[in-house]
Amino acid sequence: MPETQALTEPQKALRKMGLARDIDLALHIPLRYEDETRIVQLRDAREGDTVQIEATVTECQVQYRPRRQLVVTVDDGSDTCVLRFFSFYPSQQKALAPGARLRIRGELKGGFLGWQMVHPTYRAAGGELPEALTPVYSTVASLPQAYLRKAVAGALSRADLSETLPPDAPPAPGNATAWALRQALQFLHHPTPEVSLAALEDRTHPAWLRLKAEELVAQQLSQVSSRRAHDVLRAPALRAKPGGLHEQLLAALPFQLTGAQRRVSEEIAQNMARERPMHRLLQGDVGSGKTIVAALAAAIAIDAGWQCALMAPTEILAEQHFRKLIGWLEPLLAPRGLRVAWLTGSQRKKERGEMLQLVASGEAALVVGTHAVIQEQVQFRNLALAVIDEQHRFGVEQRLALRGKMNSGGEPHLLMMSATPIPRTLAMSYYADLDVSTIDELPPGRTPVVTKLISDSRRDEVIERIRGQLAEGRQVYWVCPLIEESETLDLTNATATHEALSAALPGVMVGLLHSRMPVPEKKAVMSLFTGGQMGVLVSTTVIEVGVDVPNASLMVIEHAERFGLSQLHQLRGRVGRGAAASACVLLYAAGDNGRLGETARARLKAMAETNDGFEIARRDLDIRGPGEFLGARQSGAPLLRFADLATDTALLEWARAVAPLLLDRHPALAAQHVARWLGGKSDYLKA
Ligand code: ADP
Ligand code: MG
Repeated sequence: MPETQALTEPQKALRKMGLARDIDLALHIPLRYEDETRIVQLRDAREGDTVQIEATVTECQVQYRPRRQLVVTVDDGSDTCVLRFFSFYPSQQKALAPGARLRIRGELKGGFLGWQMVHPTYRAAGGELPEALTPVYSTVASLPQAYLRKAVAGALSRADLSETLPPDAPPAPGNATAWALRQALQFLHHPTPEVSLAALEDRTHPAWLRLKAEELVAQQLSQVSSRRAHDVLRAPALRAKPGGLHEQLLAALPFQLTGAQRRVSEEIAQNMARERPMHRLLQGDVGSGKTIVAALAAAIAIDAGWQCALMAPTEILAEQHFRKLIGWLEPLLAPRGLRVAWLTGSQRKKERGEMLQLVASGEAALVVGTHAVIQEQVQFRNLALAVIDEQHRFGVEQRLALRGKMNSGGEPHLLMMSATPIPRTLAMSYYADLDVSTIDELPPGRTPVVTKLISDSRRDEVIERIRGQLAEGRQVYWVCPLIEESETLDLTNATATHEALSAALPGVMVGLLHSRMPVPEKKAVMSLFTGGQMGVLVSTTVIEVGVDVPNASLMVIEHAERFGLSQLHQLRGRVGRGAAASACVLLYAAGDNGRLGETARARLKAMAETNDGFEIARRDLDIRGPGEFLGARQSGAPLLRFADLATDTALLEWARAVAPLLLDRHPALAAQHVARWLGGKSDYLKA
């Protein structure tokens, strides 16, 4: 098509929907189907059925009550039916004149006045009946269904659907590859009428299985190839020295590592000792002690003469998360003439300049901060290890930028930490590109947090409870929900709560922290709370609450039903850090009917029933499905359109085995498969 030729509206819409290639259209599977293969007799129909009839018009008139409408009566020989059109053209009146024979399709409503259809579709009777169900595709206003149907049908016949799964692949579970790809797609677009619609709907039909198998293989292929691309990269081999910084740090700690901490530290140390860059996710529940594990890794890197960067998503988090770590490491670094540098967005120019100097000269062995760490002006002398805390809050681009900070041409080792655990099996199989270390044990001496669900109408009792805690010298968090669309609303909500609590608790310092406050003000509020002068902290911002105040023993979460499970778990993890018995109150607002929705109830119940972050993640997966878990931002991987990681685990395992086999023995087929499924998108996976 010449460049100058303008695209029609439907063509533009197709492009916008990403339906550019024949294969894209062929993979645009219908949302549902309509059965136009049969003509039903009105006598045999049931109320609520969507049916197709052939009938003759016996009457056609415009009525004005209760509103203007075209009322058409038809008779199919077995019964009569009234068709109603509330908007109509004169031409329609003509087509629907008495005597006309029509094929009519619509939903039948019964009534004691007989059958009715509102706005049915119709055309002249006669003509062949289709042999397959009619597909209904998701589309947009500028792309008529009929146009899209034609486009898909054309693309389906043109598309190259030759088999890319090798004959020597192991047999797929559930006989998932019994159908050929072409046969499967042909069927999904034009199924025969006798198909079990249930099998199509729950995606257990062989045609669906085939499609899922294809998709999972594509996803695994891109993961495996990105892992292999990663495998040829080089990083400095970092080995712990006997009697070195690593051992000194261990000796200086006021506690013993837990077994889990020792195990993951060992996994990380072994990984860093290789010349291949580490690409590892360290996951562990809130409070499981990930920071010290990171510090031990940093000690190894520093001892070997390299620099280490630590990044957290916000300034307050960076400070809170790493304060202890710096406290441990700084005294050990000083005698070696090494320092810790801070890099944050709010820094003054002069201070920032000094810090950049320290980083560039290599005097700063440890560089701690926010996104500022990966900004362009930051030049490391020899970065070898990057640690990202709360990794899911960073995007793929940022991880890439961090890797670009190695000026020696190699790659830094990458350790990503997360307290939002991805269920292990899911992580292991889905991220072929990532190693996972899991801390599955909390340090001793923690008292489990008791969680209570309380209706918002019982706020007074909660305030009474707060008084009790304050009287014992404890501190309290009160978190208001973040309503993403409206920061103003958040603020009103939090401000109102802040005022109410201040009034209800005379003589107690009640602080307010929200997302729009300037950083110095946030810091001032935080330090009053950390220092113990402030009894109650009202906050909107979930993230800034990532603090460690062992004296806080009560966490109240308002409108808990609006939070995600993992968010709630994170928030709850802010209490129970000391020896005192701690509690978390989930205040919920019931709906108009005085009840909480089923999903909301299931989620809050899960919170009350367990304190185990992995169990919560598992339930979250059940309730929400993995789509949200593996949000594109978090994983850098495209979401699966057809397969479901929660239910298609056997197929996923199979795809894991097929992918390397394809790559090794049939590289051309592998390339064809990836191009078919991922088009130009596979580069994105390299991060
Ligand atoms: P998280 O995994 O949530 O980042 P932290 O690293 O902040 O957890 O650790 C939580 C608290 O537990 C910190 O105060 C830390 O010093 C302490 N801690 C870590 N490991 C141990 C341990 N083995 N024994 C006792 N306390 C520990
Ligand atoms: Mg942490």
